[in-house]
Amino acid sequence: MANVHIDDVDGNVAQILELHSKGCEIVRLAVPRPRDVPFFEKIKDKLRSQCIEIPLIADVHFAPRIAYDCLAVADKVRINAGNFAERPGKSFGEGRNFALDEFSKFFEAAKSANVPVRIGVNAGSLSKRILEKYGNTACGMWESAHECILAANRAGFHDLVLSFKSSSVALTVESYRLACSEMDRLRLDYPLHLGVTEAGNGQYARIKSAVGIGGLLLDGIGDTMRVSLTENPIEEIQAARDILQASGARRFTAEFVACPSCGRTNYDIQRALEVVKGKIGKLECARSLKIAVMGCVVNGLGEAGDADYAIVGLPNGKVNIYKGVVCLAKNIDQELAASKLERVILADI
Ligand code: SF4
Repeated sequence: MANVHIDDVDGNVAQILELHSKGCEIVRLAVPRPRDVPFFEKIKDKLRSQCIEIPLIADVHFAPRIAYDCLAVADKVRINAGNFAERPGKSFGEGRNFALDEFSKFFEAAKSANVPVRIGVNAGSLSKRILEKYGNTACGMWESAHECILAANRAGFHDLVLSFKSSSVALTVESYRLACSEMDRLRLDYPLHLGVTEAGNGQYARIKSAVGIGGLLLDGIGDTMRVSLTENPIEEIQAARDILQASGARRFTAEFVACPSCGRTNYDIQRALEVVKGKIGKLECARSLKIAVMGCVVNGLGEAGDADYAIVGLPNGKVNIYKGVVCLAKNIDQELAASKLERVILADI
């Protein structure tokens, strides 16, 4: 998600270009005021004039009018199920009927504009009505989304994406799993946008996102994702790509495995791994390969057995290079090993 104020058109264009260059495939922009909609359009026009077709999503809270206006300019509009159409002071049933009517009207407009809508359900911004009945729970998050689905059905609109985010990894995962089981039960099949919201920064934020998003991806759940970091948004892209690669959902580079080393390691395995990753990780043609860097032959050869290529340490501080279980080069100085391996791979592919 871009974090430049939307009235800074050039700043947004520059950030989106950078995000795009790092592999970002979809960008969301906050549109907080009605007068911001033309800025959104200018940003999009500038990008399209440079042939950058990355989809731009308008992120709207509280103000349905902005969401309606954004249907004319955005590739998708994200609304918050908890703050789009609530009328305080009514009974649950009256409030629900009001929300269904308001969402239906918006979905009719989205259908006419042929613009997809993401229903963003956040644990931190469930409506008072939902909170009072269900509490801050997965059931409440699903119920909030389900109301929108019913309203969309009423409007004959089916271009929905759903998300169920919480800063709690456990609640996030529970909510997406519940949504999937309920959609199965109801024979619905809406795409899901994944994220652990407000994850924070640094290593812990990445671990929270990896546990939450990665766990769901391993369940086969998820169609788009955002890693939410309190850092430069560029960092979100690398973290997302790492989660996608580690979960096996996407392959961006060769897969590297390496032993942690122990008292049997007789070469600088940390440096060897970095050099190998630096060289082989850049090779587009090696993207499907698994490369192992192991400390010794005692366990290393067996543990590297399912790798395509391996560097395995020897007791004399040197290494052997393997292709599968076949030793291609013996007793190599570790400084030469990565280059040798690179040449072998390039010759093979
Ligand atoms: S592969 Fe060898 S060096 Fe690496 S952790 Fe296992 S025993 Fe230790």
